[in-house]
Amino acid sequence: MASLSRRGFLSTSIGFSASVLAALRSEPDAILHNAKVWTGSASFPEAQAIAVSGGRILALGTNAEMLALASSGTKKYDCAGKRITPGFYDAHSHPIASGIQHLHEVALDKTSIDAIKDAIRERAQQTPPGEWVLGFLYDDGKTPRPITRTDLDEVAPNHPVLVGHRGGHTIFVNSLAYQKAGVTEDTANPPGGQFFRDSSGKLNGRVGEASATVRFQQLAKYTPQPGDFRKAAALMSKMMLSKGVTSACEADGSTDSLAGCQDARDAGELGVRFYMHIGRADFDKMAAAGVHTGLGDDWVRVGALKLYADGSISERTALMSQPYIGAGDYRGIEVTPRDELYQQARKGHLAGWQIGIHANGDVAIDRVLGIFEQLQAESPRRDPRFRIEHCTLINAGLIERMKRVGAIPIPFAGYVRFHGSILHFYGPERLQHMFAMRDFIDAGLRPPSSSDYTASPIEPMLWLTSQVTRTDDKGQVWGANQRITVQEALQCATLNGARSTFDEGNRGSLEPGKLADLVVWDKDMMKVEPAQFMGIRAERTMVGGKWVYEG
Ligand SMILES: [Zn+2]
Repeated sequence: MASLSRRGFLSTSIGFSASVLAALRSEPDAILHNAKVWTGSASFPEAQAIAVSGGRILALGTNAEMLALASSGTKKYDCAGKRITPGFYDAHSHPIASGIQHLHEVALDKTSIDAIKDAIRERAQQTPPGEWVLGFLYDDGKTPRPITRTDLDEVAPNHPVLVGHRGGHTIFVNSLAYQKAGVTEDTANPPGGQFFRDSSGKLNGRVGEASATVRFQQLAKYTPQPGDFRKAAALMSKMMLSKGVTSACEADGSTDSLAGCQDARDAGELGVRFYMHIGRADFDKMAAAGVHTGLGDDWVRVGALKLYADGSISERTALMSQPYIGAGDYRGIEVTPRDELYQQARKGHLAGWQIGIHANGDVAIDRVLGIFEQLQAESPRRDPRFRIEHCTLINAGLIERMKRVGAIPIPFAGYVRFHGSILHFYGPERLQHMFAMRDFIDAGLRPPSSSDYTASPIEPMLWLTSQVTRTDDKGQVWGANQRITVQEALQCATLNGARSTFDEGNRGSLEPGKLADLVVWDKDMMKVEPAQFMGIRAERTMVGGKWVYEG
């Protein structure tokens, strides 16, 4: 452990504002002692105790050093030898949209088709005939077979039903939903979308990608009521804090969700700090108002302009150079044509926005890098921190180009563990180049970790399990060459998350002057076997120097 004086600690940190320094000069509000603190700082990685003042870290050191700083008003917490880490940063998730779903839809994260049918039948019985029944969190990789139009017709013949895949790119509908949307057996696939069919050529209920799903979603859409966005932010804050997540990037924000987060903050209900990407639909009006990435405070901040290049891994719509296994020549779906994507990205780049483009397949990533390279050649910006959201299937050439153009990969953290059942569509060879944490870290790209919730659970211990073991829930290993260490996985889930949102000087590690966002864990992930990580729980979570979750 580095044993430094308080002055020494202060001098190692960077970038204080005058107000922060003023806060630091006061006495500690709290001292957490008798802990094993993994700080995330390269210069003093471990400490026994932390002093907190004004919502920020005042100092770290030995028990004796920190307790010596206490005054009569200082609260002391004996951590009983427990492990403390910085709060986790979910670098890509959808907390606001999913929070609204939790408030109004049927959660279908179930493994049995019968259980799913029962849940839909029950909701239909409580819903006036003709009105939509909506389900979410469904994953056809977790059921013995995908649900079908027939399943849904059986349990809700008098209601249009729309079940969203938790990956966000496909939906499952029943006959009445087809009828309401005007889709018949003769309807052609729209560009970029697909009405899937069974072996006899009949519509089977599965509909893929926005150009095809949009007509159902428009009709079925629950129109959020005033207050819903605030309630969603508050609800998801609670869920995230209970898992040890203290910061998150909302990867598909809007002016409504931005306002909802601010309302929750003002009401004292926002426990998690949100970085809000803004989608195309609301980008123009925000840019016209002179807003760009970075506006906000430590609770709610405007993030990147969010765009899409291709589809998803879990729903097999990522755009790849080689075909999916067992799907003929099918190589995925282009969601936005290259030139359109470039024009949108250019607008954001020129207006001072960080650009975050969803790209999973190697073909999509190549295209996105080409756009970033073009933007930097035409209008160079210092440290643009372009984000490739997901950045799943890579190769050495793509990594080299990411380094050169300053792009950050934002990979799924828990994928191998959570989605093992669909990885055979990609195969063991290709898995050596997917969710490529080892390659990203070795190249110095500092990848963060993300859940993409609702695509996978917000569960940091699932992330660590997946990244350290590369083993799925059946025990099969996929791409062992991409394994990383526990410490590396912790850094990805904390400091690298902060960096991907320009905030590494302010959070992501436990260093003097940084926000006091941290987690006390019931077991030590440095000691526990990786196979047991899933049994580790957040015992207490602190945000801004206050305990906001106590399990
Ligand atoms: Zn996403």
